[in-house]
Amino acid sequence: MTAAIPFPLRDPQPAKEQTPTQIQPNLNVKLLCPDCKTQPPHIIEEFASGDLVCGDCGLVLGDRIIDTRSEWRTFANDEGDDPSRVGAAANPLLDGNQLDTVISRRDGGSGAAKDLNKVHGRATAVKGERNLVQAYKEISAMCDAIHLSKLVSDTAKQLYKRVEDEKLLRGKSSDAIIAACIFIACRQEKVGRTFREICALTRVPKKEIGRCYKALQSKLQTNTSVMNSEDLMSRFCSNLSLPIYVQKTGVDLVKRAKELGTLAGKSPISVAAACIYLVSALYRMPKSTKDIATVAGVSEVTIKNAYKYLYNEKKTLIDLEAMKGKTNASDLSFDNLPSP
Ligand SMILES: [Zn+2]
Repeated sequence: MTAAIPFPLRDPQPAKEQTPTQIQPNLNVKLLCPDCKTQPPHIIEEFASGDLVCGDCGLVLGDRIIDTRSEWRTFANDEGDDPSRVGAAANPLLDGNQLDTVISRRDGGSGAAKDLNKVHGRATAVKGERNLVQAYKEISAMCDAIHLSKLVSDTAKQLYKRVEDEKLLRGKSSDAIIAACIFIACRQEKVGRTFREICALTRVPKKEIGRCYKALQSKLQTNTSVMNSEDLMSRFCSNLSLPIYVQKTGVDLVKRAKELGTLAGKSPISVAAACIYLVSALYRMPKSTKDIATVAGVSEVTIKNAYKYLYNEKKTLIDLEAMKGKTNASDLSFDNLPSP
């Protein structure tokens, strides 16, 4: 005879820690008819009434179901694409609700669809919308060309829309307005791009873009912060394939030069260019004024001129002893610097 097991049943050994798989509940939701409880359940979705009904007894288990079936018939083999009703998300930068239909250009080869598409497009196009779409396309393309982020291109588009809506710049070419908008967007988002870089994107003369920019700036009253040399430094340095520690020293030099007013009155671009010239030579990775000029878009003379000031003040600007402890600073010497 077996001894009676005392209740509650206990395990003689202390309970082992349960593995996570043991305690995980079954999360699958099964819907059963509470009346017939047949397994597997035989439940029918009645889309006409929006009810969920038991197929055996007719008990209504739920109302308000969503019809997820498509409401068009698809002849995918005949037409190619699934004629899906949903298009891209509405673009807040365009007027109108953009829910209009577009007639496909493709058909069996009769050419009728192409004509229909053209006529339909002409009949429905919102005036001015097409220009706006075209301008947005150009802004996107230009921003892509100089590797600007979507944030900048969207800002530029918003600026452009404001210019168009409020008719801020009458009689200016849209190319010049676009360039000015991108330039202001860069400034607003603190992305260092020089005026010359923006100008190189279009065939519009620099003067014209400058005029648009000035007019826009006063009319929009945007607070376009002044471009600073530190922002430009990182891009110029990476374009010249200079290592990060050179860049850092360059930024320090720019800051110090600003504090001391060594290069007061010089443009941020020439300040950055001159500092790169000095720092690259200091680290024995000299970059020629020609190389720097190409990257920065300033003349070689400008770099040499600014460099002269830096060279004369080098001992107050750069604390070599403090830099010796840092990486790759073993052969730092003012002797590396070319005389101006
Ligand atoms: Zn039932």
